[in-house]
Amino acid sequence: EPDAGHQDLTLPAEDETRHQVHGLAGPARPVGAAMFPELFARRVRAHPEAPAVSHGGRSWTYRELDERSDRVAGALLAAGLVAEDVVGVVTERTLGWAAATLGVLKAGGVYLPIRPRFPADRIRTQLEVAAVRFVLSEAGSHDSLDVALAALGEPCPRLLIEDLPAAAAPAESVAPGQLAYIYFTSGSTGLPKGAMCEHATLVNHLLAKVDDLDLDAGTAVAQTASQCFDISLWQLVAPLLVGGRVRIVDTETQLDVPAFLDELAAHDIGVAQLVPSYFEVLVTELERRPRDLGALRAVSVTGEALKLDLVRRWFARHPGIALVNAYGATEVGDDTMHEVLTGEPDRPFVTVGRSLRNVRTYIVDADLRLVPLGSPGEIAFAGVCVGRGYINDEERTRQAFAPDPHVPGERLYRTGDFGRWLPEGRIEFLGRRDQQVKIRGFRIEIGEIEGRLLELPGVRGCAVVVDGDGEARKLVGFYAGPPELAEADVRAHLAAALPDYMVPGACHRMDALPLTENGKVDRKVLAELAATLG
Ligand code: ADP
Repeated sequence: EPDAGHQDLTLPAEDETRHQVHGLAGPARPVGAAMFPELFARRVRAHPEAPAVSHGGRSWTYRELDERSDRVAGALLAAGLVAEDVVGVVTERTLGWAAATLGVLKAGGVYLPIRPRFPADRIRTQLEVAAVRFVLSEAGSHDSLDVALAALGEPCPRLLIEDLPAAAAPAESVAPGQLAYIYFTSGSTGLPKGAMCEHATLVNHLLAKVDDLDLDAGTAVAQTASQCFDISLWQLVAPLLVGGRVRIVDTETQLDVPAFLDELAAHDIGVAQLVPSYFEVLVTELERRPRDLGALRAVSVTGEALKLDLVRRWFARHPGIALVNAYGATEVGDDTMHEVLTGEPDRPFVTVGRSLRNVRTYIVDADLRLVPLGSPGEIAFAGVCVGRGYINDEERTRQAFAPDPHVPGERLYRTGDFGRWLPEGRIEFLGRRDQQVKIRGFRIEIGEIEGRLLELPGVRGCAVVVDGDGEARKLVGFYAGPPELAEADVRAHLAAALPDYMVPGACHRMDALPLTENGKVDRKVLAELAATLG
C-alpha cells in the first residue's frame, strides 16, 4: 500500500541495468507521493484503538498519538511556522517526545532533536547554526536550554508540549522534496555539522526497514537509541507505518542488562536495534544466564563493524533470531545497506550487505571514478538516500557531497569509509579514511575534541586516542601544557563544551608529546601509553 504512486524516484533505466549487472544498486521501487504523515494517517484511520507507543507505565493508541501530535502541529502553525522552518525538540525520550516528533513532521517543519542534558553552549550552537525558529520542550528543569535560549541573539519561542490546546490535523500534506529533519554529528574542525534529509529519503529508509525487518501490525519495536542519534527516528516511526507498536526503553534500563531483557520480554518486543558494543554485553549476559527471549525475532546491529565472533556466539544460543547488520550514515538518511543473517555467514567476516531499495552504491577512487570490481576504494552513495548536505555550511557540504559523475543531474555522498565489492553485490567494510571513531555507537570526530583542548591557555599540543574494546572502549586525552593547568580543569573545560560521550575519561598532562620521525604526534605511542595507564 505505501508503494503506490508516482515513478519520479526510480532509477534511470540505463543506470539501473548497468548497476544491476554489477550488483551495485538496490531494487528500484517507486517511493510514492505519500510521505510519513499521510502514511501514518492511514494507519490511524484503519486501527485508531490499536496501541501505538508506550513508555514507563503510560501508553497511547494510534488515535491518542495522532491527537497529541496534531496539538503540536497546530500550535506550531498557529505560531507562524512555514514549511522547512526548523523546530528544536529538546526533550528526553518520552511520549511527549513522540508527539513532538510526529507533530513537527505533520506541520511541515524540520525536526531537530537536541538532548536537554547537553551543555548549554552546545545547545546554543545547534540552535544558532540551524537557525531554529521554535523550540518544543517539556516542563521540568532544563537549565541548559534556559541558558542557551537566553544567549541567543534572536528570541526563539518555546512551546511546552504538554500544555498545547486541541487542534485539527494540518490541511497541507508534505512533499517528497521537503526537508524532514536534521541531526548534528561531530565535526572534525570543532563545529558539529547538521546533516539534513528530505521526506522522500526518510520514507524510503522506513520502507526498507519494514521490508528487511518484516515489520507489520503484530510487531513491537524497542526504541532504544538516544534521540540525537538518527537511528532513533526509524525505531520510533517505522512501526507506525504498518500498525506496529513502539516501546520507548530508557537509557537507565539499558544500562542494567537483565532489566533490559525483562523489558523486552514484558512488552513482547519482536525487533530491537543495538550498537555492537552493547550487543556484546547482551550476548555475554545471555551466555552467563541463558534465558528465553520470547517474541524477539530480529536484532539489528548498527553503527560500527560487527565482528564474526559475536555473530557466532549469538547463533550458537539463538539460532532462530535473525541478525541484521545495518550500515549507513546520517548524511544518507541512516542505513543504506543491510546484511540479513539467519545463521553464521559462509565467509570469515561479516559484510555490510547489499544496497537498500533505491540506493546506488559506488566504490570510487579520489576522482570519483569506479574502481575495478573487488578493489578497495571509498564507499559513496547515490539515489533517493542522499541528504541535502549540512545546514548553513556550504564548504563542508561541498567536501562530502558531489555531483554524481555516473548519473547526470544527481548527487552522491562520500562516506569516508573504505570498502570493496564481493561477488554477489555485498560490500566488505574496510575502515575509515580519517579520524572518525565510534564509542558505544556515538559518532565522534577526534579533531573536534582536540580543537577544544587547544582552546585552553598554555596548551601547546594535544592528542586524543581510543583505548579498549567494545563497551570498555574509551577516549584518553594527552596535552602538552604547563604544570598549573590541572587535569581536572581540562576535563571540566571539555565537559562544558561537549556531550558527555565526547569527554575523555582521563586527560594526561605531558611536558611534550611524543613525536614520530617526521615530527607528527606519535599516536601509536600514546595509544600504548593509554593502555598502560588503564
Ligand atoms: P547512522 O546514520 O547509520 O546512524 P552515523 O552517521 O552515526 O551512522 O555514522 C556513520 C559511520 O558509522 C559510517 O560512515 C561508518 O564509518 C560507521 N558505520 C555505521 N554502520 C556500520 C556498520 N554496520 N559497520 C561498520 N561501520 C559502520
